[in-house]
Amino acid sequence: MLTRRKILKASFAASASMLAGSALAATREQMRYWDNHAGFGYMGPNDVDLLDHWRSAGVSYLSINVGYDPVPWSTTIRAIADYTKGIEARSDMVLCATVARVLTAWHAGQMALTFDIEGMGALNGDLSMVELYYRLGVRQMLIAYNLNNDAGGGCHDQDKGLTDFGRAVVREMNRVGMVVDCAHSAIRSGLEAMKLSTKPCIFSHANARALQDHERNITDEQIRAVAATGGVVGVNGLSLFLANGAAKVESMVAHIDYMAKLVGAEHVGIGLDCDPSNTGPRLDEATSSKYWPARQYPASIKEDYLPPSVLPQVAEQLRSLGYKESNIRAIMSGNFMRVASQVWAK
Ligand SMILES: [Zn+2]
Repeated sequence: MLTRRKILKASFAASASMLAGSALAATREQMRYWDNHAGFGYMGPNDVDLLDHWRSAGVSYLSINVGYDPVPWSTTIRAIADYTKGIEARSDMVLCATVARVLTAWHAGQMALTFDIEGMGALNGDLSMVELYYRLGVRQMLIAYNLNNDAGGGCHDQDKGLTDFGRAVVREMNRVGMVVDCAHSAIRSGLEAMKLSTKPCIFSHANARALQDHERNITDEQIRAVAATGGVVGVNGLSLFLANGAAKVESMVAHIDYMAKLVGAEHVGIGLDCDPSNTGPRLDEATSSKYWPARQYPASIKEDYLPPSVLPQVAEQLRSLGYKESNIRAIMSGNFMRVASQVWAK
């Protein structure tokens, strides 16, 4: 006969094994996909409908771009206002201020969303804008978008490093819990930001320059530097940055594999940069040719994007390359989630 103590012990063991069993079943059931950057630019309130591309592909988390240096900062505020209203009207997706909120959203079957900004130009030279954007839902911001701004250098410009303002912004981002994103920025500026930051940094969407020689892609030194902060590189699915020709899953997997071999699978993630609007950025000719110089974006090359629906194929190809299930899950969601839990305010 079991003593009370033994009964308690036995029932605890049974429930623990049931819990472990159900947790295992849940992880077997559902792969989480964390896409760290959507590539569409603000056009209007109807942009929220584009999120169905991610939702229907089973994406669990998406960072939505609300502004970038080529557009005035006021457009970023307009985008935040429209997207917030549009998302709040939906029951299948939700803006999340904390990692705990992301987990609650997942538990409720919702897609978790946050905002990001491409370039510190959106601050309009005002340091106090960092905390305001954070309160409005922005969880990551890059230094400069392709060209230099008042914070630092862009990847297609003369690299002068971070300015005093740029250094102050990095410190303020660390203070409020916004992730420092070095994508699109010049090499030196990004390296300086990563050295200065006391929290893990990221490249939200950038590929390996060793595999595709383009100024938007990042060098081994940059990949090692971001890994040294405990951060992550999100590999994107844009043809121009993957390989010449059409965007292919194999190319994306090759970039993931290259980085994982260089710095470890714990420093690689996904930042598709997909633009399902198919309209491309609506900027005037002069602005476009400035931010996307013809020497790096030849008119002869047609842009092609991998949609979020390819993510299960990416996972499958990593599996066939011999990646452990735990590493695949880390690449698909766990790594960026780790950074969020270390940097975002609780
Ligand atoms: Zn971008």
